This record gives sequence, C-alpha cells and structure tokens, in this order.
Amino acid sequence: MIPGSSFLWAGLILLVVNLMQFLHQKKLKERCSHVFYAILMTGLMLCVFSLLMLEPADTFMMGRRTQFVVTSAGCYICIFLISYEILRYARFRLNDIWQETGGIWLFIRRILLAAGIAVTLLNIPYRFIYDADPSGSMQTGGHHTIFICCIILICLADMYFIVSGCRQAADRRITGLLIACVLMILGIIAGTFHSDVRMMCFGIAVSINVIYITVNNPSTYLDRVTGTFNLGYFRQVFTERLGGRRSLHMLVIELYQLDRITRLYEKGIEEKLMRSITEHLVYLPGVKSIFHTRSERFVLVAVSEEKLWDITEYVREIFGGSITVEGRSIRCAAALIGIRHAEQFESIDQLTLYVRFLLRQTEMSGRLQMIEASEKSIQEFYAEQEIERALESAVKNELLDIQYQPIYSLKEGRFVSLEALSRLRHPAGSNWLSPEVFIRLAEECGSIADITCMQLRRICGFIRENDDLMEQIHDIKINISALELGDPAHCDELIAILLDSSVPADKVRFEITETAVIHYTAEVESSIEKFKTAGIRLFIDDFGSGYADFCNLAGLPVAGVKLDRSLLAGIADGGFEAAFYKNIARALSDLGFIVVAEGVESAEEAELLAEWGVDMLQGYYFAKPMAGGEIRDFIRNHEQKIERI
Ligand code: C2E
Ligand code: CA
Ligand code: CA
Repeated sequence: MIPGSSFLWAGLILLVVNLMQFLHQKKLKERCSHVFYAILMTGLMLCVFSLLMLEPADTFMMGRRTQFVVTSAGCYICIFLISYEILRYARFRLNDIWQETGGIWLFIRRILLAAGIAVTLLNIPYRFIYDADPSGSMQTGGHHTIFICCIILICLADMYFIVSGCRQAADRRITGLLIACVLMILGIIAGTFHSDVRMMCFGIAVSINVIYITVNNPSTYLDRVTGTFNLGYFRQVFTERLGGRRSLHMLVIELYQLDRITRLYEKGIEEKLMRSITEHLVYLPGVKSIFHTRSERFVLVAVSEEKLWDITEYVREIFGGSITVEGRSIRCAAALIGIRHAEQFESIDQLTLYVRFLLRQTEMSGRLQMIEASEKSIQEFYAEQEIERALESAVKNELLDIQYQPIYSLKEGRFVSLEALSRLRHPAGSNWLSPEVFIRLAEECGSIADITCMQLRRICGFIRENDDLMEQIHDIKINISALELGDPAHCDELIAILLDSSVPADKVRFEITETAVIHYTAEVESSIEKFKTAGIRLFIDDFGSGYADFCNLAGLPVAGVKLDRSLLAGIADGGFEAAFYKNIARALSDLGFIVVAEGVESAEEAELLAEWGVDMLQGYYFAKPMAGGEIRDFIRNHEQKIERI
C-alpha cells in the first residue's frame, strides 16, 4: 500500500459500498438519482486520482513531477464538479421549496465551475498555483492559498444559497445537505494543512455518504408494508414530471370497504392483503413503477399510453376474482381510474384532488368500478376548484348570505318557524350556487364548522334585531352537518356563541341529518347531550331519504322529525306512496315527535298532509327561501291566521 494512503482507501471503500447500494436500490429515472449517481462516480474518480497522485512510481512515464501536477489537477476538477453537483442535487431534491434566488446562484456557479476547471488545467503547463519537486511532493505558493480560499468561499456560498434558496429552512433534507457541505469544507481545510489531498478526499467521501444516508436514503422511499415506492417518492418524482412535456399515464387503484375485510378477518389482515396485491401487480407487463401512496391506494405508472389499457385489463382481472392471502380467498372491492397525460396537471396536489373528485363522483357500490378520466371531468374538476376558492374567500370575508324559508303550523294556522339556509354566489356571475355543492365542499375542506359558527352569529343578530317578528316565530332552524356533530368541542363553541349573544336557547333549533343518527358514535351522543343540557332542541332532517328507521330514532332526545321531500312523490295519487307517508307520519306522531313535511308544492299535498296529522308544512307552495328583509315583510303580511291553506 502507498504510505499514508489509508484514508484514501477508507474513502474509496465507503464510496464503493454506497455505489453498490445505490445500484441495488429501486429507483425511477428521476433527476435526483442521476445527479446523485454523478456525485458518486466523481467521488470515486477523486479517490483514484488521489491514489495515483501519491503513487511514488512514474506510472504514466511523464516524469514524477508532471504526474503529480496532472493527477492533482484531476483531483481538483473532481472536487469542483462534486461541489457543483451537490448544489444541483439540492435544487432538484428541494424542488418543492426552492426559490428563484437559488436558481440565479446556480447560473453563476456554472461560470465559476468553468473558471475553476480552466485555471486548474492551465496550471498543468504554467504551474502558477502549485507545483511538485522532482520527487513528487507538493510545492505550494501564495496562489495556492488564494485558490483554496476561493474553493472554501464558493462552498460557503453554496451553503448560504441552499438555505436562502428554500422557503422552509428547517427542512430535514436541508440539514443533511448542509452537514455534507461542512464535512467537505473541513476536508479541504485539513487537506490544505497537510499539503496534499488525502484528507480532502476522505472528507468528501464521508460527505457523499452523509448525503446518501440522510437525503438520498433509499429506505425512506419505500413503503414499509409492500416494499414499493411510497408517497414521499411519488411526490418527488411527479413534482418533476408534472407540467412537463414527457407524457405520463397511470392507473390509480383505490381499494374500498377495507374496514369490512378487517372486521371479517383477524387484525393485521390488511397488511397481508396489501402484500398479496403487490405480488400480483409487480409482474404486470407494461408497468414502469408501482407506488403505494396510502393504505388503500396504489398507483401504477405505464410505460406508454397503449400499455395503460393492457394494464387496466390485467388489474381488472385481478380484482374481478379473489385474492389469496395465506390460503384464504378474499374478495376486495376496488375502483380503477385510468389517467392519461397526467403531466397536464400543475402539481401533485391538483392530481390528488382530481382523483378524489373522480372517486366522489362515483357511487362506490359493487366490487369493481371503472372510472375513466375524461376531458369533461377535468373541466368539471376545475370548475369545482373555482367554487372551492370562492367558498374559501367567502368564509374568510364572511360573504355567505342567509335566506329564510317559513314553516307553517297546521295547528296554529300560521307561520311559526323559519329555516335558515346558506347562500353563496357563483364566482363567475350573479347566480346562486347550490348549497348541495358548496356545503359538501365545505365539509370536505373542513370549513363547515366555521360556516356554521358564522351563520349562527348572524342568525342570533337577526333574532335580536327582530323582536316583533320573533313574537310570532317561535324558533329558527339551522342545519348542522353530521361531521360537526362528531366534534363535541365544536358543539361547545356553538353553545357558547348562543350564550354570548344572549338569545334564549329555545329560539334556535338544530337540524341534524339522518347520517348522524345512523353512525351514532360516542362523540355524536356527547354532542347531542350537550345541546340538550343547553336547552337547544334538535330536529332530524331528511328523514326517509337514507337508511334511518324508527329503531334509530327511539330514545333519541330530539323534538321533531322532518320528512324528506322525496317521500311526497306520488302521494296525491292515493296508492302505496300515500299509505306509506300517512303511516310514517302517524307513527312518528305517536312516538311524540313534531312532524314536519318538507317540499310541499301544491294545495292538494297540503290538504292531504293536514288530514294525516302532520304538524307543520314547509315548501314552495307557501314560500321559497328569501332574504332577511323580505321574510320580515312576508311574516308581517301573514300575521293573521290563515283559515284555508
Ligand atoms: P335541507 O336542509 O333539506 O333544506 C331544504 C331544501 O329544500 C332547501 O334547498 C330548500 O330551498 C328546498 N326546498 C324547500 N321547499 C321546497 C319545495 O317545495 N320544493 C323543492 N324542490 N325544494 C324545496 P337548498 O337551500 O338548496 O339547500 C339544500 C341543502 O343544503 C339543505 O337541505 C341543507 O341540507 C343544506 N344546507 C343549506 N344551508 C346549509 C347550512 O348553512 N349548513 C348546512 N350544514 N347545510 C346547509
Ligand atoms: Ca334542513
Ligand atoms: Ca331537509
């Protein structure tokens, strides 16, 4: 062994191990991998040049002195390249948080790189930076110190730009890269003191290793359960590809009703199932790579557009039958979404939201759903995004309106209640958006709680400002969604708003949907109890539209039930529908609930409902929902008892 070369050998071995690991790791051809590969190879070349430099023999028969100058020039060029590539690596690895200031430095860095290489090459004939004596030992002068200082300064500037080029300086990935830079600088300083590149080389090899195990660690890309790529890597790869020119075709496999499988079999079956599914998917021809991005979702990237259809057919066959898990056949429900030209999406979040949009549009029944991403659905998705933005700004700036629809009491012969309904204008015009759409969106993006709080405050204000109106109107009904009921802390907030507004609790009723009653969790029970204690009475909304039945209602502390509009269809013809409605209304009355019929549109319906003992009526026959000012006039004009409805 060449004397004093042990550090070099250690560095070389470290890099060879890294290289073997790297080549072994599953990876896509993305930029980070390319750059990291370049760093590794340049690091190896650096070690080889250093070994040759220390070699006492005149290996290349150019004279010991020249051999030293040439090989050390090779070393310096490798160092320049590595430090530049680390910066480039940072740029790609931190793609999502990298800012343009960093981009400008990258450009300047390219010029500095060229200058550094040129100066080093010129030193071979002119020897103005360093030289060697005939025995092959380094001879340094004042220029060499300046030269080394420049390299260190450039490395420090790299560190500065890695940090300043990123919006979130606390990112774990930045820390790894900075450690690498520090190690490299320490290596260069140590190497300069010793007047050779042995330490320098070792420092660089260690810094590459640090990058490998911190920021380029293959295990952080792999899904623990299936061994396929995980969401982190999906984001990394697709952030590069989206919005680009190279086409990207993929099949999303969304598994659903997994909880049913977990309930049917033992705990932990889900992971085993995922592994079995992966085994089927791994060998499909035409699949470029597989991602397991969340527990119920796989994404297969196809090598070409034609292959996407083949892959879809194969996957269809897999989920059409049953999947064998440890000798048991399990049938697994799945939705398959083929997305061609996914590169047209601007960001990974857009793509994920689009998948969510498609899934929501599909009724998840049956075992296998085929969903095709079409141009039309993409347009609809963008339209919905626009509404979501409008909703967000409406919530922030309190731009949602409220309309009130009167509810008529058959016993008192006049309007005794109002239902408050939220209204939002279409972002591209003066039309109203359907609450069915924006309330669902608000539920999905988590702003529904804020909306209810905001509307409740306003409704309390309306009640306080309209004492005279509230003499006739016993209460105002407000819709709250099942999600809100599942959050007792939010229900406390609603009660607090009511208390702060000094509006009596019995002036407000909350309408809760059937869903909340069907999924009667401990949280829902606690919320209902809180409302009861606060003296706020509840109504079940849309009864008869879903799966709730009398058993769900028994024992619930609710004051009344609103029968869904859909139940009214066909009642005027006598027959089954009429008998059905009549009996439900009677049974609910007998159970002690106030019964409200929703969606009454004709005198005929109103008369029948009066006969059948329904307590209250609501519908376009009486009035459509209207703004606060209008409802005041409307109620004032209908103060008197209405003899005939
Ligand atoms: P809902 O609670 O069942 O409200 C009654 C809906 O039926 C209202 O629709 C009302 O305008 C409509 N309607 C009333 N009478 C008739 C009729 O005779 N015929 C027909 N065809 N429709 C009638 P709207 O305002 O479009 O609201 C739709 C749904 O959106 C509401 O259904 C409610 O579930 C939800 N919603 C509205 N505002 C809010 C809110 O502030 N919070 C929550 N959580 N949900 C809301
Ligand atoms: Ca309602
Ligand atoms: Ca309703």
